[in-house]
Amino acid sequence: MSKTLSLDSEERFARCMDVSGIPAVRDTLDGLDPKSIEGPLFLELLACEGGCINGPGTTDGGSLLQRRSGVTSFAAKAPRNALRDGRGTRLPSRWQPAGVTSREVSEAEIRKALRQVGKRSREDELNCGGCGYDSCRHFARALVAGRAEPAMCVAYMRRLAQKKNSALLKTMPSAAVTVDANLRIVESNRNFARLCGEEAEQVYETSPGLEGAMLDRFVPHTELFQAVLHQGGEVTDKTLRINGAIVNASIFSIEDHHLVGAILQDITDPAMRKQQIVEKSKEVIDKNLQTVQQIAYLLGENASETELILNSIVRSFSGEDGE
Ligand code: SF4
Repeated sequence: MSKTLSLDSEERFARCMDVSGIPAVRDTLDGLDPKSIEGPLFLELLACEGGCINGPGTTDGGSLLQRRSGVTSFAAKAPRNALRDGRGTRLPSRWQPAGVTSREVSEAEIRKALRQVGKRSREDELNCGGCGYDSCRHFARALVAGRAEPAMCVAYMRRLAQKKNSALLKTMPSAAVTVDANLRIVESNRNFARLCGEEAEQVYETSPGLEGAMLDRFVPHTELFQAVLHQGGEVTDKTLRINGAIVNASIFSIEDHHLVGAILQDITDPAMRKQQIVEKSKEVIDKNLQTVQQIAYLLGENASETELILNSIVRSFSGEDGE
């Protein structure tokens, strides 16, 4: 583009510069005093590093070098000075600046937008750039302008996911625990502490979730957890003995080799026993129904076959079949 521009307007734009990537563009323009530039200068400022061939609209695959080499090979095949001697194709076009309509965003609006993504104090503003904006305040401005949405803030989404996770853990009737690669507890619910006994319950009071405690402090046999950590997958319906209770355990991998979760049900708990009895009774009723239906089907089939045979005997004795 720069080359073509200098070909077509040799006098005006004798100098062309191209810069790509937002940081490079910023470095180029920061503190620029246009008066200090001598003569006309054409600046090609490209947001994507490497230019359009590395932009979001390009086809997948191939390194930047390959794409660049493709473009230069293509350009090399074009007739030299095509534009100058009139053999090339001219594509004239005119654009009117569309202008950017922006309004002043008040401090109150910024604060309100920040609260929307859980940022109530300066400390909450992490300015991590995960949303694509330089700072939380830039992001808040974009929120007010309707150019961004809360789900773009990674910190907010992470906190939301954690809250949902904790709410689920808290309300589930079974004991639940997650452990890291060192078998340290990452999170657990009160039912887990209750299952593990008095000591665990006491620790839970001061350190909710038992975060950071070693699992083997409360659960005697941790081999199943180790196995799932190393092999991934899950083990279900395993029986463990924890603090005198017989427990049905389902252990599963949440993140291979890093995070394992477990749901533990105390099958000696009267409430659990009652539930199991109800479930077993339902199973027996369903089985009975299936058996009755099968018997009825066989009886019906047998009766119709018998009827057919008897009818043919009657016909043969009454001479209906001509004998
Ligand atoms: S992702 Fe969230 S925390 Fe990070 S800069 Fe953007 S708004 Fe701030």
